[in-house]
Amino acid sequence: MNLWRDIRGTVHPFWVTLRNMLRTPVTIEYPEERRTVSPRCRARIVLTRDPQGEERCVACYLCSAACPVDCISMQAAERADGRRYAAWFRINFSRCIFCGLCAEACPTLAIQMSGDYEMGSRDLLKLVAEKEDLLIDGGGRDNEYDFYRHAGIGVGQVRGAGDEENPPADFRSNLP
Ligand code: SF4
Ligand code: SF4
Repeated sequence: MNLWRDIRGTVHPFWVTLRNMLRTPVTIEYPEERRTVSPRCRARIVLTRDPQGEERCVACYLCSAACPVDCISMQAAERADGRRYAAWFRINFSRCIFCGLCAEACPTLAIQMSGDYEMGSRDLLKLVAEKEDLLIDGGGRDNEYDFYRHAGIGVGQVRGAGDEENPPADFRSNLP
């Protein structure tokens, strides 16, 4: 009985090796060859623009509050027409754990995770990204989304005129 077990134990690894030699490799020769990343890939963070080409970020600090490792910081500012923006916006990628909570918290779809995963560096200071490094020209995963139009918080737009906004309630109609 022990002899049979020993023979099996000796032959089986050869059988496993032979069987896998004939398989198509599942590995690729990176970096010569690259896989197409999933659309839901959570890699380098970007700041996007709305369909008018304006910065989507309104410096509401929600992403910063949601970040579990405190790697997002910014300073809010206001334009002459009342629209808020981030005067500066910084992400320390050496601390980021790419959890995606910032992107989930963002009400304007400004901050998004991209598929660019090639961002490793031995120099930690190179991993601190400023607004100029983060801001891209397009809308990222949703080019059409316009927070101001949908939420009705448009600068110079009357209340209730947003695509998904109800007209303001007339409280006098509730008076006895
Ligand atoms: S992905 Fe996570 S860790 Fe990175 S900045 Fe966003 S919330 Fe912070
Ligand atoms: S990226 Fe989004 S959540 Fe963060 S401050 Fe800007 S609008 Fe707010």
